[in-house]
Amino acid sequence: SKAQLFEKGARVNITFNDVAGLDEAKVEVMEVVDFLKNPKKYTMLGGKIPKGCLLVGPPGTGKTLLAKAMAGEAQVPFFSMSGSDFVELFVGVGASRVRDLFKTAREKAPCIIFIDEIDAIGRARGKNMMMSNDERENTLNQLLVEMDGFGTDSGIIILAATNRPDVLDSALLRPGRFDRQITIEKPDLAGRAKIFEVHLKPIKKSPDLDISKLAAMTPGFAGADIANVCNEAALIAARNGKSQVEMQDFNDAIDRVIGGLEKKNKIISPGE
Ligand code: ATP
Repeated sequence: SKAQLFEKGARVNITFNDVAGLDEAKVEVMEVVDFLKNPKKYTMLGGKIPKGCLLVGPPGTGKTLLAKAMAGEAQVPFFSMSGSDFVELFVGVGASRVRDLFKTAREKAPCIIFIDEIDAIGRARGKNMMMSNDERENTLNQLLVEMDGFGTDSGIIILAATNRPDVLDSALLRPGRFDRQITIEKPDLAGRAKIFEVHLKPIKKSPDLDISKLAAMTPGFAGADIANVCNEAALIAARNGKSQVEMQDFNDAIDRVIGGLEKKNKIISPGE
């Protein structure tokens, strides 16, 4: 439903413990968390706290999770919207949604505003197929106006996620806007093992489960795919009347998830 475009300042109880791997990104975002927790420490010496930070990486790698964890760690409200939610809106609605979001956020500061899929509204002029360009530009312009309109001491930090930083309008990347970038990669073998550990926690595991084998069986998987595998495996085991989830269930779940990923790729590659 498009009725609610953003979660209104929800408190989140996700922390960095819920985010497996991504060690370098975590170090960088911890700095941002400290800006929110101790702004005076920085402004006292005349420093300007950054307003915007871009999380760049492929789908399902934990950008949203990391943004929520930042809010959880800083213990501030979390506001979010998705660029793609603005695609079908009527003229003028996108800009007014952005205005409302920032108005509410200012009242709740310190806080985090998270904009997922910012490329849907933040594409360079003339490169967007989905939305009429005027309307998209109105929305983008309003976002820029809002970002320029609050001081660095206002306690609002805006995070935006994209997997296409190359298509973004350069106006978004200027100093005082999204001038910091944090890159999030797909997990390597060790990273996948850590993500499996997180998502295996709630699962009734058979003693034959081997996390390093699972990590080795899932090259190219993003965190979201691994979460999906763990859930599928539990469902498969349950369907077969088991009381524990076994390695065989994970084999089947991995096959199923790979099948799903292949189907997705087929849809976007023509000629198949
Ligand atoms: P998209 O670009 O598609 O919005 P995203 O990068 O924002 O993706 P998330 O929505 O944060 O990805 O990830 C989806 C889910 O995948 C998370 O809720 C979590 O369950 C799991 N996940 C992804 N990465 C990790 C990780 N590093 N550690 C633990 N879980 C992860």
